[in-house]
Amino acid sequence: MRLLLVEDDEGLARELRGRLRDEGYAIDVAANGIDAEHLGREEDYDLILLDLGLPDRPGLDVLRHWRSSGIGKPVIILTARDAWHEKVDGLKAGADDYVAKPFHFKELLARIQAVIRRSVAKGAEQLTAFGITLNEDQQAVVLEGGERLQLTGTEFKLLRYLMLHRGKILSKSRLAEHLYEFDDERDSNVIEVYVNRLRQKLGKQLIQTLRGQGYVFGNKP
Ligand code: CA
Repeated sequence: MRLLLVEDDEGLARELRGRLRDEGYAIDVAANGIDAEHLGREEDYDLILLDLGLPDRPGLDVLRHWRSSGIGKPVIILTARDAWHEKVDGLKAGADDYVAKPFHFKELLARIQAVIRRSVAKGAEQLTAFGITLNEDQQAVVLEGGERLQLTGTEFKLLRYLMLHRGKILSKSRLAEHLYEFDDERDSNVIEVYVNRLRQKLGKQLIQTLRGQGYVFGNKP
């Protein structure tokens, strides 16, 4: 999952970026409204965290511009405490959810997970498919019999994306785009290595290769 964090408070942005990376998200940061609007148009983010009080262009305008040009990516707005009107205006402008500052990181994380599940996995409470359940808090897999397998950071990121998009053909380049940050070198051959590691842990049949097209988690479409 690749997220855009729009936040002009450098300290907060740095802290959030670090903690979200620990949770297996790739994070790009924009510190003003104009850069944010541009990145939101050009890059294929899975979710955007949008502070409303921004230099150069207010967050609400950025959100309205995205929505009026058909960009429907999930957006969680970060609002000032007690500013109830910001929440109302933000939701009316097309935000999917909001978190009021100051917030507990765990609350933000739970909202991110819920909004992403709503947007791609149609509201499933847990990421379960084909006999395996992904525990996002522990970055581990639980098998049907209850056995628990710990994943490395990259295995977790990859498996989460595959499970959220089960049954769809995912090319190596798409997978790389959603697992790496803007400045990262995106080597899609590395994806193959990690797919093979997941197969070794979870069984070969769970991730199928479609020659020349990519990978499918679960049944072929
Ligand atoms: Ca701000």
